[in-house]
Order: sequence, then C-alpha cells, then structure tokens
Amino acid sequence: MRQQILVIEDEAAIADTIVYALETDGFEAVWVATGSEGRELLRKNAIALIILDIGLPDMSGIEFCKEIRQDSSVPIIFLTARNDEIDRVVGLEIGGDDYIAKPFSPRELTARVKAVLRRYQTVPTPSTPLPKPVPTTSSDDTPFLLDETRMSISYFDVPLDLTKCEFRLLQTLIRHPGRVYSRESLKEIAWDEPEFSLDRTVDTHIKTIRGKLRAVRPDRDPIETRRGFGYALRESW
Ligand code: CA
Repeated sequence: MRQQILVIEDEAAIADTIVYALETDGFEAVWVATGSEGRELLRKNAIALIILDIGLPDMSGIEFCKEIRQDSSVPIIFLTARNDEIDRVVGLEIGGDDYIAKPFSPRELTARVKAVLRRYQTVPTPSTPLPKPVPTTSSDDTPFLLDETRMSISYFDVPLDLTKCEFRLLQTLIRHPGRVYSRESLKEIAWDEPEFSLDRTVDTHIKTIRGKLRAVRPDRDPIETRRGFGYALRESW
C-alpha cells in the first residue's frame, strides 16, 4: 500500500509540483489548500506525513502544527517562503520535523520526505490510527525518551531534572540525531532573548546537561562536540 502524504499548500502551482514529485516517487499525495481542510483529512485518512506551507489562507502553518500536535505526532515538513521564517521553524519546539525553503527542487523534497519517514519507523494504517503523542521520540536505538506534552526527557529510563533552557537544547539535539547545530542556532532555539546571551553560555548549559547525563550513565557521552561547528547527538549506540 502506498503511503499517503498530505500536502497543505494554497498555491496550486507549487502544490502541483509537489504532488507530481511525490506520486512519481511512489507516494500517494492528497492536496488541500487550507488548514481546516487539512484537519479534516487528517481525521479521516491514515496520513504518513504532512507537507505544510507556513502561509495558509485561514491560519498559519505554525498554528496548524501546534494545534494538531495536541493529539498527533504525524511527521511534518514545513514549507517556508522566506529565509527569516526558517529560524522559527527550526526552533523545533513548535513540533515540526524538518523544513524546506521555497524554491526547492522536487528531488530535494522527496529526499526529505523519505528521510523523515525513515526516522518514524511505524507507518500509520487505517486500522492503527495516528501514533499517540506520547512519547514523541523513542526508538530502540536511542536511550532518550522525549515527552513533549509533559516537557520531560528520560535517559535510560531515568527522568532528567532539566531547566527550561536545558530541556530545549536537549530536545533539539534528540529530535535530529547526527544533525550538527551551531552555538548560534542553539541559542536561537533555547533562549527567549538570544540577543542578550553570549555564545559561551550554550557551552555552559551543554556542560551542565552532560553532567546530568553522566550522573545516570558515567560510561556514556551522547553529546558530541564538533570542533568549529557546534554540537550534535550521537546517531549510533
Ligand atoms: Ca502560501
């Protein structure tokens, strides 16, 4: 059975390109132009992934994402028209899994779709509806359990006692193992007023997080420092 991808995009020309690229790659694409139609389809169909435009006529994609994240963990790839939206989207606290900036190549888009679907190994089918929101991220190859509704993270089954900043930092790393985040982007994600903080405070917080992780498992160090680049969560265990 082909996996169904929901495309929520109000510009028909862009939607056409996306639908064509997805169908060519073996997916079944369903296109709607508004958030409310998207909501409706999400209720009725077994959607494997959503491609979500940020600028929709009836609501913003960000609002839509926040709303459906109350009871759905279906993977979401944002479409952004402007580069300055990317920072907000990358601040993954709103619950997106990836983003792609317009204009994009169809091949790039389907590659992202496949990569995100690979991360979510379970494929929803009509008999097993959408995965439940808790936990958002958990699999056999990670010792972390991220519960975004309770804003808590467990490590080897031990709940971590984290500050808001530490939670946001670790949450970001956990959601995309292997992805390297610069200190600058982590600061944007974790701080309410990043312009008032210094880069080295990211290092300080990472150090504290590492200490808390070490207290659980002294033999492991899941956060990698990429010299000159930033930080990433190890991909393999
Ligand atoms: Ca739009």
